[in-house]
Formats: sequence, structure tokens, C-alpha cells
Amino acid sequence: VGTPDVTLNNGITMPQLGFGVWQVEDDEAERAVTTALQAGYRSIDTAAIYGNEEGVGRAIAASDLARDELFVTTKLWNTDQGYDATLRAFDTSMDKLGLERLDLYLIHWSMPERGLYKDTWKAFEKLYADGRVRAIGVSNFTLEALTEVLDAFDTVPAVNQIELHPDFQQNGLREFHAEHGIRTEAWSPLGQGKGLLNDPTLAAVAKAHGKTPAQVALRWHVQIGNIVIPKSVTPSRIAENIDVFDFELTPDDMAAIGDMDKGKRIGPDPATFDLM
Ligand code: NAD
Repeated sequence: VGTPDVTLNNGITMPQLGFGVWQVEDDEAERAVTTALQAGYRSIDTAAIYGNEEGVGRAIAASDLARDELFVTTKLWNTDQGYDATLRAFDTSMDKLGLERLDLYLIHWSMPERGLYKDTWKAFEKLYADGRVRAIGVSNFTLEALTEVLDAFDTVPAVNQIELHPDFQQNGLREFHAEHGIRTEAWSPLGQGKGLLNDPTLAAVAKAHGKTPAQVALRWHVQIGNIVIPKSVTPSRIAENIDVFDFELTPDDMAAIGDMDKGKRIGPDPATFDLM
């Protein structure tokens, strides 16, 4: 069963489930993306800071897929925020990816204390107006940073990619996104494969459906409307993680997973994070 698309606020479509490549070395990224494309993934999530845009690009170039069958996301790194620096960084990413046109470009972190994300968003609007990218969005934006962008600009971010998994469900931000036509994209949707996948609730639901805890977590994301980008370099897990469209969690399952929310982050707090 294929991955459904979601429609972004400018009318373009994006696969609801894609493949993430954080912490994957360039050569390994080429292999993993090739495996993912063969397994049926059609959306790839990378970033300039991951150091693997070239490997991702090689895998795309080597595949038989037409460009319009693939959805590619990359992200602007923190040191490149600001109007001119953003335009230069975009060109560098596109050279590395070997693409003419990007599908989705994200500001990786808002870094509110630096005060540069509005200049950066202006450059994003230019890239979009020039047709270099089909949709623009943000990542790790707090409600405050999003509100500033919404107040100052005409273009509403297509997505906000944020840490989100059953232990950290982000219901406040998800609601705000829904009110403003911003899609919620979940990073670390499996909680980075750590404690979360041993959770007894996920285990019980998984058993009832003949699925794995990872598949149940991903299916929960899909059913609450998130875009998800699980990462793995293991071929069997790559296949397992996209095999979530042939079953449905019941309202009781959804409620039990909803109760798992501990408000507990794994990653840094976007309100204070400003790594350069
Ligand atoms: P994830 O939640 O996708 O977990 C990945 C890890 O879980 C793997 O390394 C593996 O150890 C384990 N795993 C994967 N599939 C499994 C399975 N089927 N069974 C058991 N274990 C399994 O973590 P992630 O890589 O942090 O997040 C996914 C993607 O999100 C990243 O690759 C990246 O593209 C994106 N991301 C973005 C940001 C951001 O700041 N925007 C931050 C982190 C991650």
C-alpha cells in the first residue's frame, strides 16, 4: 500500500512519510537513500549541516525515478542566516544535491536571540518567487517565532519541522499550526529509537495488530496528521518503517498512545538553541 500525499498550504503535495538522513555519513547516505527509494520512499529529508547532500544527490541521480516523482527537502544551517548568506547557501546546497529545483527548503533553527530569521525568511520568499524551490518552511520554530513571521510576511511557512514523538507530543504547537495552515512535520518520530520503542503501551498495541512498536509509533503520527521522516540505515528497518499503510489504530489505541505524552524532549530547546 503506497504512501499518501498531504497538500501543503500553497497547493503542492508532499508524501506524508519520508526518509531522514541525519547522522549518516555521505557514502552511507548514498547507499541508504538508494535502499529507501527501492523500498518505495519518495521523500528525502537532509540538511546542509548533515554533510551528506552530495551522497543524497548521487543516489537520486542514479535512480530511475523522474524528478517529479521525488520530493527533496534540505535545510539552511544557522551560520548562513541573513538575506545574502541564505541565497549563497541555497546555491551551495543545490550544487551538492545536483538539482535544478528543490521541493522544500527549511530554516533549520530560529535562533531567536540572533534576530536573523526574518531577514532569512525574506530570502526564502525570494527563492520561492524565483521558482527555485516549490515550498518554503521552517524547523524548530517556537510559537513566538512563528507568530513574528506570520505578522511580518505574506507567505505562511508550509511546514514547521519539530521534535515530536509519543513521549513529546507538542499538542499546543500542533494546534497552532492547524489554525494557520502550517503542516506539522515530526523529527525523531521514533524518539531516536531509544527508550520509546520499549514502551509497554506501544508493545501491546503492536502485538494486537501484528506490527512492531516502530510501526505503531509511525502509524500514530500518520493518523494524527503529521508528516514523518524516520531514519534507518538498516535495509529491513527501512522497509519496516514505510510498511504502515495497511492497518489502522483504533480510537482506544490512539487514546492509549495519547496518554504516553511526558512533555519530555530528547533534543535541544529551540527557544535557547543557537549552535553556530
Ligand atoms: P528517529 O526517531 O527516526 O530514530 C532513528 C533511530 O531509531 C535509528 O537510528 C535506529 O537506531 C532506530 N530505528 C529506526 N527504525 C527502527 C525500527 N524499525 N526498529 C527499531 N529501531 C529503529 O530519529 P532521527 O534520525 O533523529 O529523526 C529522523 C529524521 O528527522 C532525521 O534523520 C532528520 O532527517 C530529521 N531530524 C531533524 C531535526 C531538525 O532539527 N530539524 C533534528 C533531528 C532529526
